[in-house]
Amino acid sequence: MSDDVGRHRTSSGPTRADGSRPTGSEGVDLVLLAEPRGFCAGVEMAIKALTWMVRAFEPPVYCYHEIVHNQVVVRRFEEQGVVFVDDVTEVPEGRPIMLSAHGSAPEVVAAARERGSFVVDAVCPLVTKVHHEVRSRADKGYSIVYIGHEGHEEAVGTMAVAPAAVHRVESVEEVGALPAFAEPVALLAQTTLSHREWAEVADAARERFPDIWTPGRSDLCFATTNRQAALVELAPRCDAVVVVGSANSSNTLALERLAVESGCPTVLRINGADELPRRSDGSVALDGTVGVTAGASAPEELVDEVLQALAPRRGVELLRVTDEDEYFPPPRNLRELVTAIGRFGGLGLGAPVAAAWSGDRAVDASAALAALD
Ligand code: SF4
Repeated sequence: MSDDVGRHRTSSGPTRADGSRPTGSEGVDLVLLAEPRGFCAGVEMAIKALTWMVRAFEPPVYCYHEIVHNQVVVRRFEEQGVVFVDDVTEVPEGRPIMLSAHGSAPEVVAAARERGSFVVDAVCPLVTKVHHEVRSRADKGYSIVYIGHEGHEEAVGTMAVAPAAVHRVESVEEVGALPAFAEPVALLAQTTLSHREWAEVADAARERFPDIWTPGRSDLCFATTNRQAALVELAPRCDAVVVVGSANSSNTLALERLAVESGCPTVLRINGADELPRRSDGSVALDGTVGVTAGASAPEELVDEVLQALAPRRGVELLRVTDEDEYFPPPRNLRELVTAIGRFGGLGLGAPVAAAWSGDRAVDASAALAALD
């Protein structure tokens, strides 16, 4: 990661929805906008993959679990006839199914395939890597200490890879309560933990099991780490920090916690601009410098609406800690399907499928979502 902090300042601040601008010392003076923020490469891939499926199949297309933890994204797909289920047996035989970016238990993947459906497993490659690590260590006879949040879909899917071998913990106390394993011990983790919440528990595990095996690189994903690094730079300069994202998004909550730990006096986690606190005149009840970031599953349109509502007098300054250019292509079977459809041509497919398949990388997920309207 680069230490370079790039800055961009707009020449004039945005205005309120009614066209007016705040005046005087009350109100938001400046917005510091974190970069990177919002959609990560795994979420980009999953959203575009479901978009291709919506265009390729007659509705309904089914999706196991929320494709990503964001209600705006989920609703947008529901409007297109996507049905989200928490049990693949709810999917009628033969209907197409997408499995979410968080990763699914092996038996869920098998059950989806047994239904004779076209199954697109949109698991993020970084989660797949952890699944491989769990399988490989379990096969070698290790007990696995897995740092992850109880009930989180990624943790549930990962633990199901080798349930007898995995012991989930999320606190130092839980590490202390682990049995004295007779087998060698490995340490793995949910990808979306904050570095701080991971490091403390990992240190406790290393102390408890001095010979513990750990991967060459921690399982914490680059996107989570980058968003947190930007927030750490930004929070000390702010009177308030606004984190855009859903309450069931693990990396969003990690950002919120990090902002609080950074000592920022006011930290708000909101789903969208309508949840910002308001004064009686309708202006946002925040003052001074406000930092804005977004979890990895929050679309940029929500950030745009927040900036519009904040209406900072001195505009928006971009605080960039690194450039993120990771790209995860859609799952192979979906690529092959869309390529085949494209060869027939003239099937009345709308954007973005109408674009050349080779252009997937150039299409961002926000544009794909917008094209669904
Ligand atoms: S947050 Fe990281 S692990 Fe999760 S989907 Fe995004 S890139 Fe993958």
